[in-house]
Amino acid sequence: MGTKKEDMRRHIRLHMESTLTSRDKVGVQDFVMLDAYTSESAFLDNLRKRFSQNLIYTYIGTLLVSVNPYQELGIYTLSQMELYEGVNFFELPPHLYAIADNAYRMMCSELNNHLILISGESGAGKTEASKKILQYLAMTCPMTDSLQIARDRLLLSNPVLEAFGNAKTLRNDNSSRFGKYMDIQFDFQGIPVGGHIISYLIEKSRVVYQNQGERNFHIFYQLLEGGDEELLAYLGLERDPRLYKYLSQGHGANESSMNDKNDWKTISNAFSVIDFTEHDLENLFGIIASVLHLGNICFGVNHQGCATIPVTREIKWIAKLLGFQPSVLLEALTHRKIEAQTEEVLCPLTLELSTFARDAMAKAVYGRTFTWLVNKINSSIVNKEFTKKTVIGLLDIYGFEVFDKNGFEQFCINYCNEKLQQLLIERTLKAEQAEYEMEGIEWEPIQYFNNKIICDLVEERHKGIISILDEECIRPGPATDLSFLQKLEEKVGKHAHFRTRKLADPMGRKRIGWMEFQLFHYAGEVTYCTKGFLEKNSDILYRHLKEVLCTSKNGILKECFLVAELENRRRSPTVGTQFKNSLSSLLEILISKEPSYIRCIKPNERKEPSELYKSLCPDTWPHWHGPPAEGVKRLVRYIGYKPEDYKLGRTKIFIRFSRTVFATEDAFEL
Ligand code: ATP
Ligand code: MG
Repeated sequence: MGTKKEDMRRHIRLHMESTLTSRDKVGVQDFVMLDAYTSESAFLDNLRKRFSQNLIYTYIGTLLVSVNPYQELGIYTLSQMELYEGVNFFELPPHLYAIADNAYRMMCSELNNHLILISGESGAGKTEASKKILQYLAMTCPMTDSLQIARDRLLLSNPVLEAFGNAKTLRNDNSSRFGKYMDIQFDFQGIPVGGHIISYLIEKSRVVYQNQGERNFHIFYQLLEGGDEELLAYLGLERDPRLYKYLSQGHGANESSMNDKNDWKTISNAFSVIDFTEHDLENLFGIIASVLHLGNICFGVNHQGCATIPVTREIKWIAKLLGFQPSVLLEALTHRKIEAQTEEVLCPLTLELSTFARDAMAKAVYGRTFTWLVNKINSSIVNKEFTKKTVIGLLDIYGFEVFDKNGFEQFCINYCNEKLQQLLIERTLKAEQAEYEMEGIEWEPIQYFNNKIICDLVEERHKGIISILDEECIRPGPATDLSFLQKLEEKVGKHAHFRTRKLADPMGRKRIGWMEFQLFHYAGEVTYCTKGFLEKNSDILYRHLKEVLCTSKNGILKECFLVAELENRRRSPTVGTQFKNSLSSLLEILISKEPSYIRCIKPNERKEPSELYKSLCPDTWPHWHGPPAEGVKRLVRYIGYKPEDYKLGRTKIFIRFSRTVFATEDAFEL
């Protein structure tokens, strides 16, 4: 085996040497070797050369840049893993395995904790990278028979969490809708002995609503596609997802590249390895089925204008699966308890509020079940016996995303990405330049955009957007999404990275709706619609429904809804504030470890292989055949320039306020 491995390495080295001479064709494998490596176009040019040869990995020093190939490249085989095992970082072509191996070796020799931080926009390949790193460590690290089960559980926690926490969006068919930080624990011999996962803010709103072309969480479809007849009959479910309102608004159920049936088999196996009992699974799928039944409840309206629900099969199934009386559920979905001086009074709800209560119940039940799931997995993978251990942390969060309509969810996700970008800046660019300065080394300062200003705009106490939102959520008197927008205009309206319609962009480029605001993120500008911000930030579940959920006989819900919560009369922190606090704790975890960075890049918007170009104007590229000047006009109009902002010459265009746009030289050949 050893000689075969050596032969392969020799072969690769020879290949690398020969490719050095063909640098023009395949580019350089470390950007630091570029002659003009600070120029953006040289960077892109090199990336494109390599990508065209299916070389998706490139280093910038020890940072790994990865371009999503959107195809299987055969570079993750066992023999590839063996190749990278214990080899000096720069000896072989850039690879995720080199990063993983390096972190592991350093951890073993220096006995310190490491971190592999994977960042990049949605669909760029973060989750795939994190899974491949985990596989690499699981397959190449030393192992004992008794610890094999720990390794298998660690690996199988991924498909389970993806089933419940990932979904198809317009940007990615398997998009992470929660943030995940995982510690892989090693003993003093470097044997992986267990792990621990922390999850961050799952996008609960998806349970009850999906945009056109998107899906709910995978688990719903996997259950319906893969669950056997007996299980579906036990849960009162039909096989066709289109029969469920919570699964059919996005019309995305039938247009997924996911193989739900196969994935169901994978998670069924994972459940048994991770030690879920029959009883756990009965409870878990009882909850998943109840959510689907909840979505199908039809409300009526009585002559006083209040919501009514007939005792339908949905109500009966939910009551059976969650273990309470149908009448109790009916009452809780159509009434609110108001505390009068000496007694509690039941106040009927309107149709709108009943629908709100129902959706809030579905979201709360799903969200807390997800947390339960993470805890359950943790109790199975964590190794309490080993005290002297070190860890490699793996961070895989939801990537930066921009849709046509962006709401509270995108605001949180993009804020999270800003925080990671800030960490990257602080620990790489800033730290390195400060060190040169301290050591008196001559260097050419690199201009970079420090996004701290945006992080502050979002999170600063009393002044940031989250604080302003919180104030609107808790202040007495009528607060609305519009009054929140007005407060934003008042308090942060002058900020350079913020804009609303009222405080219109002086260049008047992008249209802003009357309920919208724009943030100029490090990764581009995003227009957010404030509709739903207050409701989602407050995340209210009526007390009456909470009380009912506390009486549930379903074992999981019993753990998720505790009576103690009812006794605590203090207002719980808002979603935005909780998220802000959890990100601040995450950053502390990250800062305490020796980092390696992987930056994933999405090569195109169409999820296509072999295509590296971000389309500035899909209207004209790649099929524009008209007169070049007309093409340029369309492009500038599409980007948002007004006619008075530019003038077309014979061969050039003159723009009054030029903007940096990321295009390669031949990206728009006119
Ligand atoms: P999000 O932020 O939405 O969670 P992400 O960065 O985690 O996005 P992934 O889910 O990892 O993105 O990747 C999206 C898809 O791209 C994958 O489902 C897979 O089809 C493809 N892909 C990503 N990385 C690779 C790779 N290394 N090889 C082959 N295909 C890949
Ligand atoms: Mg992901």
